[in-house]
Amino acid sequence: MTEHGSGLIEVRNMGVVFGENDNQVVAVKDVDLNVQPGEFVSLIGPSGCGKSTLLSIVAGFVKPSSGEARLDNVPITKPGAERGVVFQQYSLFPWLTVRKNVEFGLKMAGADADKRNITARELLDLAGLLAFENHYPDQLSGGMKQRIGIVRALATSPQVLLMDEPFGALDTQTRVVMQEILTNIWQQFRISVLFITHDIEESIFLSDRIYVMTARPGRIKAEIKVPLPRPRTADMTDTPEFMQLVQELKGLIREESLAAMGPEIKSRGLSGFGMEVGPKGVNQIF
Ligand code: ADP
Repeated sequence: MTEHGSGLIEVRNMGVVFGENDNQVVAVKDVDLNVQPGEFVSLIGPSGCGKSTLLSIVAGFVKPSSGEARLDNVPITKPGAERGVVFQQYSLFPWLTVRKNVEFGLKMAGADADKRNITARELLDLAGLLAFENHYPDQLSGGMKQRIGIVRALATSPQVLLMDEPFGALDTQTRVVMQEILTNIWQQFRISVLFITHDIEESIFLSDRIYVMTARPGRIKAEIKVPLPRPRTADMTDTPEFMQLVQELKGLIREESLAAMGPEIKSRGLSGFGMEVGPKGVNQIF
């Protein structure tokens, strides 16, 4: 919990339609979900099922066609400092140093120079990046940039963190390390997180709960609790409990991934096209 509020996110009866008349796309339909204060919740589903749209609504960037999103019982109508957002693209300011990037939100919020400096340095230390405070983003690796993106989003003490495929552009090894770093940071801040991914293992490793979405129009197909203990460690991914969850999620998502590819693939199956689901399963096909 933060000093501002509890961080309860509620999405109720949400529908989103893009375009008009013949060009209408029903992106999201009848979605109900919630993130309890301090909970880590992932949204997983095939490409195009409306995950980013839902997150953008909670961020206040997009207005729903029906239903509503609330934060601590207050309807969300616009972006706000109590909601930190991290995107797949690093979106750092290239002309600012690492520390100035982290300080940016605090500056906008009117914090004085000392407060900005202390907060930014504490957060950079937490993310193992203090030694790079005077570097520019171009001088850093993708994993480092994304760590800065996370601490920048945390600098203004948001109640919730909204993350849209934040590790999607990183190589597998960096991604795994980033997942551990994120769980450590989250463990310390205990703010509510809504996390979008299409990586099954990632969603299990990070989350308390996972919502699985259907192919478009996106609905909630299933809600899976992740009973693994905290803190999460990399060796947990080899446990039978973890493997069982992977299988359960694969089963749920495979059908939706096929549906998202269209009726022909659905009826023939992947093997009808000379394709097989690989060793990593359906997370290779969407
Ligand atoms: P996901 O994040 O699950 O891949 P998105 O939320 O990005 O899915 O998109 C859901 C659907 O809505 C897609 O079919 C996408 O093309 C469509 N869509 C998203 N944003 C817009 C927009 N601004 N205008 C029209 N269609 C959109």
